[in-house]
Amino acid sequence: MTAPTLRKTLDDLANRGQQAVLWWRDDDAVQPTPDLDRLLATSARWQVPVTLAVIPEPTGPALAERLAHSPAANVAVHGWNHRNHAPAGEKKQELGSHRPQVQVLAELAAGLARLHALHGAHLVPVLVPPWNRIAPALLPALARCGFQALSVFGPARPGPIPAINTHVDLMDWHGTRGGRATDDLLAELAKAIAASVQVATGPEPLGILSHHLVHDARAWHFLDVLFDLTRDHPGCRWVGLPDLLPPSDRALIP
Ligand SMILES: [Zn+2]
Repeated sequence: MTAPTLRKTLDDLANRGQQAVLWWRDDDAVQPTPDLDRLLATSARWQVPVTLAVIPEPTGPALAERLAHSPAANVAVHGWNHRNHAPAGEKKQELGSHRPQVQVLAELAAGLARLHALHGAHLVPVLVPPWNRIAPALLPALARCGFQALSVFGPARPGPIPAINTHVDLMDWHGTRGGRATDDLLAELAKAIAASVQVATGPEPLGILSHHLVHDARAWHFLDVLFDLTRDHPGCRWVGLPDLLPPSDRALIP
C-alpha cells in the first residue's frame, strides 16, 4: 500500500477542521555566508520563520548585524563551541557526561548570555544540543541556567524541561551526505503529521531540520517544494519557535 501523500494528509486534516503545526530549525550558523543569505531569502520569500541554532563561542557581531534585518529569523543556543568530548568509537557529544556538570553548565550559561548580548530580542532561550545529544543528568539544571526549553531530534518525551523537537532531517548524514530524496522526506513528514494530530492535548509541533552550510541543490529544492505545498494549505500552519514556548515562560531573560 502506498503511503498517503503530504497533500492528501493535509487535505484530510483540513476537511476535519484540524491543523498540523510546523516549525523550522537550521543548525550551525556562526557568521554571515552566501549560504546563510540563501536560507534567509528562502525564509523571507515564503514568509516562514526560521530558528538558527547558533554556536556561541565562535560567533560574533557580524551575524547579529546580518540578522538584525531579518525579522523572520530568531536564534537559539547551539551548545558552546560544538566540540566533541566523547572518546573515539562513541557517538559525538559536546554535552555528554564526559566532563564535570558544573563546567558544562557554566559554558551553556555563558553561551546563553553571549547570544543574548549579541542578538537581544531575536534570542529565544532554547538549548539545541550539538548532534542533538545531551546527558539526561544535565536536564534538571537547564532552567536554572535560563533555558525555557530544549530542542533535539525525535518525538518529545516528558522531562524536567519542555522539549520542542525536530522530526524530519533534510540531510543524508550516513550516505551521500547530501540532501535526502524529496519524495522520501514528504512521505516521512506526512506520516509524522498524521501521528502528531492524534495527540489528545493538541497537535505536537513538528520541526523540520536543515543545515544550510552543507546543503546541496537537492536540499535547497526540497525547502521550496515543502513551502510551496504547505505555506497556504489550511491543513497546517507555520509558526516561529517563540510561539511554541510554554505561555507562562515568555518573559525575557533577566
Ligand atoms: Zn550542530
